[in-house]
Amino acid sequence: MNTDFTENFVRSPGKLNQKPALVLNADYRPLSYFPLSLWSWQDAVKAAYLDRVNIVAEYDDIVHSPSVNIKIPSVIVLKNYVKPSTSTAFTRFNLFLRDEFTCQYCGSQGEMTFDHVLPRSRGGKTTWENVVAACSPCNLRKAARSIKESGLQLRRPVIQPSIGQLMNAGRKFPPNYLHESWTDYLYWDAELES
Ligand SMILES: [Zn+2]
Repeated sequence: MNTDFTENFVRSPGKLNQKPALVLNADYRPLSYFPLSLWSWQDAVKAAYLDRVNIVAEYDDIVHSPSVNIKIPSVIVLKNYVKPSTSTAFTRFNLFLRDEFTCQYCGSQGEMTFDHVLPRSRGGKTTWENVVAACSPCNLRKAARSIKESGLQLRRPVIQPSIGQLMNAGRKFPPNYLHESWTDYLYWDAELES
């Protein structure tokens, strides 16, 4: 199984402690969707203190410093517009999202691993075009063989998704945790979940 390639993926930014803030661009849309732009409360408070962001919504919790008491921001908006990235970050989550958390060989869902279509031992790269979500049985069955040798078949072409494609997939898989103050700025409508 491919377990040693994760270092090739973009790591998700920072460790988000409790009470993250949703970060909006100056146009009030999330700075990024995948990953969702979240800052730790420490970064959010600091940015507000430095006057780089406006606070749009807050948690009920208050942090104290010697001079000020400030409610922890739950939504902040950048004062200066940042041009959004047009390419999709190659992350573990985005790759699973592209494949809709579905094994690209047998279509099963559940616990997923990553599989290099052209095995690394044969020069296969860790790229959008060569890595797919796979269940453990298929991953084991394929092992270090090519698709042809393994007798497996890919369910669809393996390509780098557009932001729009990831957003469509994202509608089916909302994050587990969304603070209520974020929902005005996100597209994860409750109706879409049924
Ligand atoms: Zn499978």
